[in-house]
Amino acid sequence: MDIEKYKRVVEKFALMKDSEMSDFDFFAVARARDFIQAHAIGLRYFVYMGAPYDRTKGFCRDKIGKVFSINELLLLKDDPNRPAIPEYDPVLHLGGNNCFEGEDHCNHGLSFISNSRAARRRPDLDIAKPLSTPSWVDLMKGLSLAEIELVRNFSSRLSRNRSELHTRAFDLMARKSIALALSEDGVHRNGRKMTLQEFIPELVQELGL
Ligand SMILES: [Zn+2]
Repeated sequence: MDIEKYKRVVEKFALMKDSEMSDFDFFAVARARDFIQAHAIGLRYFVYMGAPYDRTKGFCRDKIGKVFSINELLLLKDDPNRPAIPEYDPVLHLGGNNCFEGEDHCNHGLSFISNSRAARRRPDLDIAKPLSTPSWVDLMKGLSLAEIELVRNFSSRLSRNRSELHTRAFDLMARKSIALALSEDGVHRNGRKMTLQEFIPELVQELGL
């Protein structure tokens, strides 16, 4: 996908008022803008937004309100029913002249949603769930008393002299790191898996605690 191309489209019309733009360009710019934003924050799924009217053609009618992936969107380029637009680009043109009888442009939008929401609405997409971060209690299960003491001391250090937001970010990072160190993969130094006793002091240093 060519994000730079969409940025150029947005920039080209940046100083123009919406009312000065053709409908064709207005909807292309709106979709390009949403696409750039979604790409920047890592969203990959969207709802095909808009209302069906009496004269809405099948190409868009079948898709309205449904969830699609960016990959599926880009594949519309090879769809036999794709709009007959020179240099058709699914992001810029979407349904094009296959959207509404008598119009050359598609008035539908890309409303990007989170992965978890997309997963609920499209179980067939097999969207990978992010690795969950264990709680401190879960982390301490199966540890020796000395190790528990070590982890407890460490977790209490995290909240010193920090804003709540800062603490939460550190806390999350620390739990993820410790979970990795305890996992089968482990954290390695010089070709050897580190013990918790070796790893925690490193983490303290790394986080500047
Ligand atoms: Zn449309």
